[in-house]
Amino acid sequence: MFKEEHKAYLDQKHDVMKINIFIDGEELTPSTGNYSERRDPGDEDRVIGLVADGSKDVGAAVDAARRAFDRDAGGWVSDYRLRARVLYKAAELLRQNLDFFAETESLFVGKTIRTSRSSDVPRAAEILEFYAGLADKILGTSQILRTGDLVAVVKQPVGVVAAITPWNFPLVIMCRQVAPALAAGCTVVTKPASLTPASAFEFAKILTKAGAPKGVFNVVTGSGETVGSSLVKSDKVDAVNFTGETSTGRWIMEQAAGSLKRVILELGGKNPNIVFEDADLERAATAVTYGAYANNGESCAAGSRLLVHSNVKQKFIEMVVERVRRMRVGYQLDEKTDLGPLVSRKQLESVLEYVGAAASEGLNIVYGGNRLTESFYARGNYMQPTVIVDTPRESKLFQEEIFGPVLTVTEFRDEDEAVELANATLYGLAAGVWSNDVGKAVRVAEKIKAGAVWVNTYYTLPVEMPWGGFKQSGLGRNNTVHAIEHYLEHKGIYVDNQQGPMRPYYRLVLG
Ligand code: NAD
Repeated sequence: MFKEEHKAYLDQKHDVMKINIFIDGEELTPSTGNYSERRDPGDEDRVIGLVADGSKDVGAAVDAARRAFDRDAGGWVSDYRLRARVLYKAAELLRQNLDFFAETESLFVGKTIRTSRSSDVPRAAEILEFYAGLADKILGTSQILRTGDLVAVVKQPVGVVAAITPWNFPLVIMCRQVAPALAAGCTVVTKPASLTPASAFEFAKILTKAGAPKGVFNVVTGSGETVGSSLVKSDKVDAVNFTGETSTGRWIMEQAAGSLKRVILELGGKNPNIVFEDADLERAATAVTYGAYANNGESCAAGSRLLVHSNVKQKFIEMVVERVRRMRVGYQLDEKTDLGPLVSRKQLESVLEYVGAAASEGLNIVYGGNRLTESFYARGNYMQPTVIVDTPRESKLFQEEIFGPVLTVTEFRDEDEAVELANATLYGLAAGVWSNDVGKAVRVAEKIKAGAVWVNTYYTLPVEMPWGGFKQSGLGRNNTVHAIEHYLEHKGIYVDNQQGPMRPYYRLVLG
């Protein structure tokens, strides 16, 4: 029955979206004249988008952003109340167009429509509102010195910001990067991932409708090697906020050094979910399952490593597998789907390769492990949710980010071993700790080297929670009131009160 409904979905007609570039307040066709086809992850036979190759338009986009910043277009840089109004209005428009944005996001990413509708789009709107509320509260400090002179510290926007985003949460991550930058008074050029550029392009339209002056927000689509790289190297860009793979982040940091631009990096994760024997196992099993498979497991925050106490290991694995078994794999726009298709054939192949490596390492795949090819599944990038037990720390599956619906399980015998295993990868993005002993949970949370630790929950990431990594998971933090500081320069203004004698150092020179 479920399969039949899916076939009906796939046979429906969808419009092909044309995704152009957006520069200086206008939608433009690319100078190259070229577009690449984007295929539906749930049905690779169907084209859903034509994506502009903006590789020759980066200069124009950066110039537009530079002009808007340097000339204070429409009062953007100086008028913080304008910025607050625009960001609030954009959030409102996003909510009004929730269905459209949710469908677009799901269609391109392959994530379930329930996720996009109940999480991605509302979260993006919340982020915009949060920073809208900060735009008129960017306060400096001032002090009258012992000499009677005044030192004022004023905060000024850093300039033009490049925002480079990945394909797994295109709208939320873009908003997380650009909302604080815009609230600070910066102007932006964003480069969405080539597979999922639609929401950034549509967002540019609503931001303009909300009143953003020309040049404040620009979108250039195209590949990382051309568009992304030109943005990072440009002398006219003052800061880069990048979210993506650790290897790309490393390269970006090197390139950005050329012009010493500020860099914020949100990179990969291989996050442990630690379940102690005294945890509420029912709640933990549901959250661990959610943590591993939400967004098809294609998430830097995925709780992809289950670490479980040996005394409850067997029971807990059964509880998780029982939940995994109930997950429905299906088309991303179907309300009933729990696990959608992976974003691309390439991504599916990469995940299957990891599962193949698990088999060659002799690991025990207790559930799933295969691509789904029966009936309509053959048309898309569908795979079974997969559970692999007794994964040792030396295993590639324990160490590397798989970025798909694969959960590995490793047992521990005591608190120290749990912490050691949790910290035994190059990554340090997030972790979950499950225990009814609050003292223990806090102790463990403190010792885990990760930017975010959830206790008795997983994946809850409101804008109030800082987001970013320890170790090779990144540099800097997005979210919270502090993120706005990335986009601000602190300028000291020293004012002599002209009352007392000349300052002593003048005498050193003038006698
Ligand atoms: P990616 O690094 O391949 O690409 C990310 C973005 O960078 C894309 O827009 C891409 O076109 C661009 N890019 C690629 N090469 C570039 C270059 N040389 N110069 C400039 N830009 C370049 O990552 P992806 O495959 O899109 O996303 C998956 C990765 O992102 C995973 O590793 C995941 O963990 C990570 N991620 C991290 C977070 C986080 O919050 N820490 C969130 C989501 C995704």
